[in-house]
Amino acid sequence: MRMPSPRRLWKYLTRCLRLQPYFDSPGDGRTAPLIPARALLWSLLLSRLLREWAFHAVEALVGSSARAALQVETAFGDDALSYFTERLWASPTRAALARVLHQAKRHKAFDDSPFIGLAVDGTTVGRCQARGCRFCRPHRNQAGQITGYRHHLVMISVVGTGLTLPFDVEPYGPGESEYRAGQRVVRRAVGLLGPRFADYVVVDGEFATAPYLHAVGDLHLRVVARLKGNLPELYQAAQQRFSAQPPKACFWEGQDWVEIWDADDFDPWDALRWQSVRVIRYRQYKPNGNLFEAFWLTDFPTHRLSSRSLFRLAKSRWEIENQGFNDAKNRYGLEHICHHHPQSLLLVWLITCLALTIERLYRLRYLHRGTHRVRSAMELLRLLRLSLAYPTPLDSS
Ligand SMILES: [Zn+2]
Repeated sequence: MRMPSPRRLWKYLTRCLRLQPYFDSPGDGRTAPLIPARALLWSLLLSRLLREWAFHAVEALVGSSARAALQVETAFGDDALSYFTERLWASPTRAALARVLHQAKRHKAFDDSPFIGLAVDGTTVGRCQARGCRFCRPHRNQAGQITGYRHHLVMISVVGTGLTLPFDVEPYGPGESEYRAGQRVVRRAVGLLGPRFADYVVVDGEFATAPYLHAVGDLHLRVVARLKGNLPELYQAAQQRFSAQPPKACFWEGQDWVEIWDADDFDPWDALRWQSVRVIRYRQYKPNGNLFEAFWLTDFPTHRLSSRSLFRLAKSRWEIENQGFNDAKNRYGLEHICHHHPQSLLLVWLITCLALTIERLYRLRYLHRGTHRVRSAMELLRLLRLSLAYPTPLDSS
């Protein structure tokens, strides 16, 4: 297999993922631009894959002797990236992410999984001392004094398929809530992906409210939600009933021993229009002696999904924490404020999702064809960096 390089990655994006129309028309709102949008957008995406996310780092990369190997036709400064991202519309990037997921499904990237999940969760990014944009939310100390500002967003990701593919974010400013942003992002996702792309939405306990569960149900998706003390009646009823019963099933999940309780005839709380609620409790014993216990609720009927399968769907929620937020923050610069402008922030967050999604499909599916072993993210990064040292003709196709 030939060594991965920006040139080969570009061919993968345009030929396999069919993203050429997006790079030709990414929603560039600049008037009379001198630097082609493709050069700026491709540099932003590639710099994230190279883990050089600051706009100054992008300027340094495209101003270096590696520019031809990066497949960028012209050098530019960090101010050009600020100007470009302030004026870049979000909808073409969101549509490009949806197109990537559709292409992945068409290429059978998810065929080993009986269900495709969408995990929705919120996180904090971009801390700053002074208020700089409409998304800035004040952060207060215990005395109620403002100590700084933070940005909050809700992310949505494909999960439960062996591929964690974040594909949209919804920021929310002061006076807004994670829960409402979570409704907007899941409605937009189904609008972009179509009603039959995914099977279920998996969320943490703060989303387990009747309006959220109804909103997901209205989109013809099942829901798997963590059950915590914010639903006290159902939580206590499940605790009482399961504590008096032996587990319904026990099994090995890798090296972990799992006991699971499962019943589908709990009464819904007043606001929930379901006829009944299915609840599971699992106890997961780790080899080091740690024990994890959790309760989850769902509208998946028992005849369609076994207790063990439901356990796996519930566990898929952790993907958005680990392969979503942790990777995006620690490796791809999600927390870094490149340019403090609301549209620029949003576009950089979306381009970060695109970088994560493309990296995984390229590495775990495309490069994994045949008998090659799966390369780690670090190995791919190293190969991409090494490829910059070799002289490469600029591919203008
Ligand atoms: Zn801000």
